[in-house]
Amino acid sequence: MSYRIGSGIDFHQLAEGRDLWIGGVKIPHNKGSVGHSDADVLLHAICDALLGAACLGDIGTHFPDTDPAYKNIDSKILLKKTVDLINAEGYSIVNIDSTLCLQSPKIKPYINDMQAAIATVTNINEKDISIKATTTEKMGFVGREEGLMAYATVLIQKIS
Ligand SMILES: [Zn+2]
Repeated sequence: MSYRIGSGIDFHQLAEGRDLWIGGVKIPHNKGSVGHSDADVLLHAICDALLGAACLGDIGTHFPDTDPAYKNIDSKILLKKTVDLINAEGYSIVNIDSTLCLQSPKIKPYINDMQAAIATVTNINEKDISIKATTTEKMGFVGREEGLMAYATVLIQKIS
């Protein structure tokens, strides 16, 4: 059995007048993520980790933010397309571990919904999708609520 590991990281600015999509879930908040797509920082980090594990470049290569096709797109569609890309290379996902960094709001109440959303798109078990969250203790751009970030690590295995 052949295994490969991948890591991904993503950042977005936060601004008023935007929706806050994280992990495929819309979270009520006074600010939302700024980006060409729905700017879902967690799903983007997971996409990059998957692409990295399969050595398939990065999210910007496959879904350029200059392409009008991806304007305001639901990042669950990008994640689905990414899973299709790694499946086409003969890989399946073993597990996902991730960490969100943002000052507010509290993410814990939404984690189960995020796991369910990601499980539906990736077709893996919710128990294989770890989502953690931390603040930066009010330090830096995250602490000032100017932006948020996410890290993801994935393991994939060759199945064909
Ligand atoms: Zn992003």
